[in-house]
Amino acid sequence: MTMPALGEPCVLLKLGEIVLKGKNRELFERRLIGNIRQALKEFDLKVDVRRRHGVIAIFLPEGTTAEQAHAVAERVADVPGLVWIHPAWRVAKDPETVLKAGLALFAEREEVKRKASFAVRSRRRDKRFPLRSNELDRLVGGAINDEYGLPVDLKNPELTLFVEVDRDEVFVFTGGLPGQGGLPVGSSGRALVLMSGGIDSPVAAYRMMRRGLHVDFLHFSGIPFTTSESIYKAYALVRKLDRFQGGARLWVVPFGKAQQSIRNSGQDRLAVIAQRRLMLKTAEEVAHRIRAGALITGDALGQVSSQTLANITAQDHAVDLPILRPLVGWDKTEIMAEARRIGTLEISELPDEDCCSLLAPRRAETRAKIEDLKQIEKRLDAEELAVQLADSIQEYKL
Ligand code: ATP
Ligand code: MG
Repeated sequence: MTMPALGEPCVLLKLGEIVLKGKNRELFERRLIGNIRQALKEFDLKVDVRRRHGVIAIFLPEGTTAEQAHAVAERVADVPGLVWIHPAWRVAKDPETVLKAGLALFAEREEVKRKASFAVRSRRRDKRFPLRSNELDRLVGGAINDEYGLPVDLKNPELTLFVEVDRDEVFVFTGGLPGQGGLPVGSSGRALVLMSGGIDSPVAAYRMMRRGLHVDFLHFSGIPFTTSESIYKAYALVRKLDRFQGGARLWVVPFGKAQQSIRNSGQDRLAVIAQRRLMLKTAEEVAHRIRAGALITGDALGQVSSQTLANITAQDHAVDLPILRPLVGWDKTEIMAEARRIGTLEISELPDEDCCSLLAPRRAETRAKIEDLKQIEKRLDAEELAVQLADSIQEYKL
């Protein structure tokens, strides 16, 4: 008997940290389901996403191929809040059908042809099911053993059949994709990412999306004194990152003239930190307009001179909003590995003319004093300048 005759294709989703939630759990689950539906809009499939006893199931229309189910699973694997994504079959809730489904699933596997070891792992979320999970393991395992003559290996099986008994149905599957973990995007509120074209800030954005923040992006370009390359990079990075989230917006600040004023203020060694404070003040102004509750940067303690403890402190004092720095304790190699995994590294490594290179002094101050910075800012009228810069932002539609 073939699998389609026995059941319907579906994708079974295991929740991450949400399972630790108490009274609010339902709220988080609903948001997660909304995010999953949103992510699946790109498919021309009528999908039905439902909560089931602590898991989520995506039911796919009859006739969905294994390839389509896999594509759906891969897409959902990018949605934060899930730890495992299993392309599965939903079958009737009786031991005989489960047994047949197990046999049919194994019939398609190359491991079976080479007589690989196997195990059956059952789980009963509905305790009214007539067999206990170890009885179900033995029933289905015995049948597979009789049919295909595979050796059982409970410790290190090469192929595992998972059977999960739920209230209305049984799910059977042989594998899955790891999810992103974390919390559903949007469950922690909104924030604004200061997005360079570099390696760190995209990773920082991803890490905060995973903690449930819905983020938008602000990029400072050296225009009119640099080319537009950094804007294209920021754009490409935001597009790449948005598959974890959906609905991100990117704004670009033409920052070249403001940088020129900072340079002309004469305080060469403080220029980098003064400019970073102006970026933060501008970002805070934009954040208020879009109701974002925090700023996010890719700072890592000690990575460059602007990221010493004293300079980080000087930046925190520039704004009232919290500045979230998820990479503060990360090594560059760790950040790069994560950038590679989420697919942003190859974009970040493209050449560009970063606006910061306009202001690279021979020796940057590692212990900027806030009083000195305030002097520069007074001459610049930094607060007013930040408002003007926020007025001048341009949105780049994704
Ligand atoms: P990144 O790899 O993210 O560019 P970096 O190692 O180059 O970081 P800095 O240049 O000191 O470090 O920047 C620190 C943080 O300041 C960045 O992670 C980013 O959040 C913000 N930032 C720097 N330049 C820009 C820019 N042009 N536009 C927006 N944000 C910026
Ligand atoms: Mg940079």
